[in-house]
Formats: sequence, structure tokens, C-alpha cells
Amino acid sequence: MPFEDAIGPEKILQVYDPITKMQGVVVIDNTALGPGKGGIRMVPDITTEEVFGLARAMTWKNALADIPFGGAKSGIKASASNSHKAQLVAAFAEKIAELVPKTYIPGPDMNMGEGDMKIIAETIGTPKAATGKPASMGGLPHELGSTGYGVALSTQVALEHAKIPIEGATVAIEGFGNVGTFTAKHLSSWGAKIVAVSDSKGAAYLEGGLDFETLMRVKKEKGTVAAYPGAKVLEARELFSVKCDVLIPGARPDVIHAGNMHSIKAKIIVEAANIPMRHEIEQQLAKRGILIIPDFVANAGGVISSYVEFIGGSEKEMFSMVKEKITANTRLVLEKAKNGDLRAAALAIAEERVIDAMERRRNSKPPR
Ligand code: NAD
Repeated sequence: MPFEDAIGPEKILQVYDPITKMQGVVVIDNTALGPGKGGIRMVPDITTEEVFGLARAMTWKNALADIPFGGAKSGIKASASNSHKAQLVAAFAEKIAELVPKTYIPGPDMNMGEGDMKIIAETIGTPKAATGKPASMGGLPHELGSTGYGVALSTQVALEHAKIPIEGATVAIEGFGNVGTFTAKHLSSWGAKIVAVSDSKGAAYLEGGLDFETLMRVKKEKGTVAAYPGAKVLEARELFSVKCDVLIPGARPDVIHAGNMHSIKAKIIVEAANIPMRHEIEQQLAKRGILIIPDFVANAGGVISSYVEFIGGSEKEMFSMVKEKITANTRLVLEKAKNGDLRAAALAIAEERVIDAMERRRNSKPPR
């Protein structure tokens, strides 16, 4: 294996079904803290290397989230528009059944939804075989907004740390999809002022603050937040340079880069999207005194929700665990961060948890 190290991967399973021609791969990176948890993505050009990178990211994310899950990920090599998608998903489920749920618990990732998770649970024969199932099967759907709630909580902790009262704090949010809407909803309800929001068609800016219900209505009726009545219309990319206390990139990767980092005026950046900027950019912004809450700290609400679903918990229990864990983990990372490099601090915490668990596992095994 070209990428093995002291953490993993523990197992790589390549699967093929000659009848449906389904090709897939599962990478179990590390299971010291619990069964490997990570979604399945369906893309035509998936590689084992890509799946490994994503599995490792899950090892750190789950460890930092402080849930008893290890890290894993899987991929099915096919186009999402394949007319035999359901058969491919069922064939994949059959091939991975030996791992599920003791070593691997799948969930949805790119091009996979609750219907696919239903197929997996039914094929393997237990609701514990996947998370992200429909509510009718005991699932805690995406639409409950666990990730956006977690991002809002992480923002609240960052504001407290920066001694900026949340009441009246100004916030700009990139993206008004699942994560962006719930982030805006909770922050507005706690008194923050959402001054700018973008989507793929443009951005709306209003110094006095955008009303959340109006944003929802405008997005539904006109298809873009940029149609907000009375707001200044900006290009989506201009959102990153608006004057605000908190900037929340919540849509696309690599949106903050060498070309626009100097125009950022926010005091805090909370990364709701995955990898909205590279680590070097985070370090340079931190040197300017900008507090950056990394993606895997702020957007872990979804994996916490998966854990609650796995143990059969309710919606109420999910919200309560997201609140407890995201608040505690964001505080811990802020406390441990040296030189403002929160990503390095968060990784060090996650690594320590995984290595301790590996040590405990080794010590609890009888000698051979
Ligand atoms: P989504 O598809 O529901 O919404 C994406 C939003 O981004 C849409 O409003 C879209 O219009 C907007 N968008 C697209 N291109 C844009 C552009 N160029 N400028 C501004 N806005 C643009 O997706 P989501 O579930 O909200 O996920 C958003 C990000 O958060 C992704 O990076 C995802 O990986 C990450 N994330 C999501 C979850 C989750 O539970 N949903 C969990 C962890 C991380």
C-alpha cells in the first residue's frame, strides 16, 4: 500500500459483482475507537487513494467529535445517473455485509441518499447497517439540520472567545443550502445579524441585517437569495470581502485563497464547508489575528447525528448531543491552540485520542 502509516489503513476491500458489473472499494482506516464510520460516494472515477484520503479524514473527524466511531469510507465506481443504481447499491451491500456494522457503518456521501441507505439496511437485514436512513426506518434525516446547528454553536463559542456579544454580531454566510440555511436560522434566532448570504447565483448584502424568514421565502420564490428586496446585489465571490465579525464559508472548497485572502475583513472564520481553504492560507490568516474554526471541528454535527441514529436515539437526543459535543470540542480546541493554528491543535487532540485507544486495545488483548 502506498499510503500506510502508524494509524492505518487496517483494511482495504475491493469488491466486484460479475452480474451487475458493480465495482467498489471500502477503506477501513482505523477502528481503535469503534467501527469505521464514513459515507459511500458514487462517482465514475473513484480511486482507492481518494477513498483512503476521505477515510483518514473521518478517523480524525470522529475522534475529535468524541464519538465511539473509527474512520472509514467507501466508493462505488459508477455514474449517479446509472439506470441500475438500485441494483448496484444492493450488490455493493451484499459484498460488504461481512464488515457491517462491526467494522464498517456506511452512510450517504456524494450522489447517495436516504433511499440508498434503505436498500443497504434491507439487503443486509438490519437497521444498524447504515445511517442516514429515512425517518420511517428510524433515520435522523439531513433535513433536521444537525450540521448547521453545530456550525452555529461553534460560531457562538468562537464569538464568546473573541469577547464579541452574539447579540448584534455581524455574519456573512456563503451558501444557502442544507448547512447555510440552518446556520443562518440558529444564529439569527440567537440575535446575530446576518448581513450577507450567497448562493450559486449571487449574494445579497444588507448592512441592517437580512431577515431569515424573508431569505427563505425569496430563495423559494425567486430561486436565489440575491433577489432579497432592498438588499445590495453582489457577485457570489464578493461575499468573502464584506465587512463582518464572522465569515462562514458553507458551500464550495478552496474559496479563500492567495487571490482574495487579503480582502477578508472578518475577525472570525467558521468553516462550515469542507476544506474552504488550504492549511497554509489558514496559517497566514491566523497571523493577521483572524480566528479560524476548522471544518472538522465546526461541521461535525452530521457525524454526531449519525452516531445518535446508530444507537437508536431520538431527534431530541441528537440535538442535545450535537450541542454538548460541538460546544465542548470547540472550547477544547480554542484552549489548546498555540499560535492561533486551530487545525494543528484539533489534529493533535484527535491523534492523541486515536493513539490512546490503539494502546488500550493492544493492552487489553491477551498475549499470543
Ligand atoms: P447543499 O447542496 O444543500 O447546498 C449548497 C449551497 O451552496 C447551495 O445553496 C448552492 O446554491 C450554494 N453554492 C453553490 N455554488 C456556490 C457558489 N459558487 N457561491 C456561493 N454559493 C454556492 O450542500 P450542503 O449540504 O449545505 O453542504 C455545503 C458544504 O458543507 C459542502 O462543502 C459539504 O461538504 C459540507 N458539509 C455538509 C454536511 C451536511 O451535513 N450537509 C456535513 C459536513 C460538511
